[in-house]
Amino acid sequence: MSLGGTATNGLVGSFMTCSDPKGERMLIRGFFEELVNRLIAVGGAIDPMSIANCDGYSSWHEFGHRNVTPFNSEALKFEAESMCLESGVELLYGVQGMDVILSKSGDRLDGVVFLGKEGLLFIAAKVVIDCTGDGDVAHLAGCPMMKGDETTGEMQAGSLFFVIDGVNEAALQARKDAKGWQAMRFTDEINQAVEAGEYPIPRRRLGMYKSNDGTWRCNITRIPDVDGSTTAGQNKIMQVGRVQIAAILKFLRKYVRGCESIRLVSSATLPGIRETRRIRGSFVMEESSIVAGEMFPDRILILSNSRDAHIGLVGRYIPQEVVYSLPYRMLVPQGVGNLLAAGRNVSCDRSTLSAIRVMPPCFGLGQAAGNAAVLAVRDKCSCAEIDVAELQDWLRQENVVLD
Ligand SMILES: Cc1cc2nc3c(=O)[nH]c(=O)nc-3n(C[C@H](O)[C@H](O)[C@H](O)COP(=O)(O)OP(=O)(O)OC[C@H]3O[C@@H](n4cnc5c(N)ncnc54)[C@H](O)[C@@H]3O)c2cc1C
Repeated sequence: MSLGGTATNGLVGSFMTCSDPKGERMLIRGFFEELVNRLIAVGGAIDPMSIANCDGYSSWHEFGHRNVTPFNSEALKFEAESMCLESGVELLYGVQGMDVILSKSGDRLDGVVFLGKEGLLFIAAKVVIDCTGDGDVAHLAGCPMMKGDETTGEMQAGSLFFVIDGVNEAALQARKDAKGWQAMRFTDEINQAVEAGEYPIPRRRLGMYKSNDGTWRCNITRIPDVDGSTTAGQNKIMQVGRVQIAAILKFLRKYVRGCESIRLVSSATLPGIRETRRIRGSFVMEESSIVAGEMFPDRILILSNSRDAHIGLVGRYIPQEVVYSLPYRMLVPQGVGNLLAAGRNVSCDRSTLSAIRVMPPCFGLGQAAGNAAVLAVRDKCSCAEIDVAELQDWLRQENVVLD
């Protein structure tokens, strides 16, 4: 049990791009930068502004992967917990939110019901922030929700991350130098193995990210047609994912030069889920705002993350050339006044989600939600009614970049 969710127990990394498209300015700062600096200080991360495109840290992608942050999940567990305890947060591991109690008027939450070791546990709350990734709280509270593609029900594929060591990086780098970055998806080797009946993975690209400790995080498994907000879906990702990991290890050792001697260090204990439910706020951010580089008046974050939808054998990756912003309204659900959403379950269309679901924006959304909750409690108002200009001033004081 630990903090960090997908970043720790899901073994997902590196933290994706946090800079502008040219890598000249760190855009996602605030809490994210504070945490990264603490990780760097204990040898648990590398400064993202020192990471270029096109090397092992960015899986040799030529675009869209500039200024990623390689980090160690164990260091993150410790630093995240330390930061919470230093701030007076009372942590509660081993509980699962399973129901909500609404006020008599039905438009506020009295609190959330959890299942713990002794049974049910009610925690009263003035404001609740739903960071479950799946919008569990908002869903239980009856807020309007969206899930995947609203017409077809399609959702991005799930994946189970794993970590390896024993990679001969020099061999991989030599391949990149000789054949270019596209060759680092290893499509030729995958096709050969498919022909030989030795690659049962419905994905035709390898994603291997060097970490700061010399291990490599592997984003290779693919489990399509799965709803990660259900028990069955989560089970499928774990079980099919492990079977795929075994096959991928064999494939890498046999087909990929530089991976002959790899060893499995660990596999994720949390399923990797890219897309499930999102709140449907009175405002839903659309892809056109990303393309246009829209600067919303109520923005709480600016960023340049690319759209990355894991659908089909190769997925759809659209690099982002301009900076855009995320508005506070994305965090505010309809129907329950003292509830906010943060992380990947905010109010946006699918294409927008495919860009903002990566971890640096999720940190930014969480910081804004936390501060907004404080303002709502102080001013005894609903989350929709807080003074957004004051929220923005506060975020700026905390080094969040909004201009
Ligand atoms: C396979 C994969 C690869 C990715 N690659 C990258 C990458 O390279 N770089 C990058 O930056 N991002 C990447 N992402 C995206 C990113 O990791 C996630 O979108 C992001 O971490 C989501 O953060 P979150 O805080 O919204 O949710 P999560 O990190 O999923 O956290 C949700 C937490 O809530 C807990 N929870 C859920 N429901 C309940 C409940 N009912 N009661 C109590 N607790 C609950 C979960 O256990 C978890 O701890 C990837 C995602 C996946 C799945």
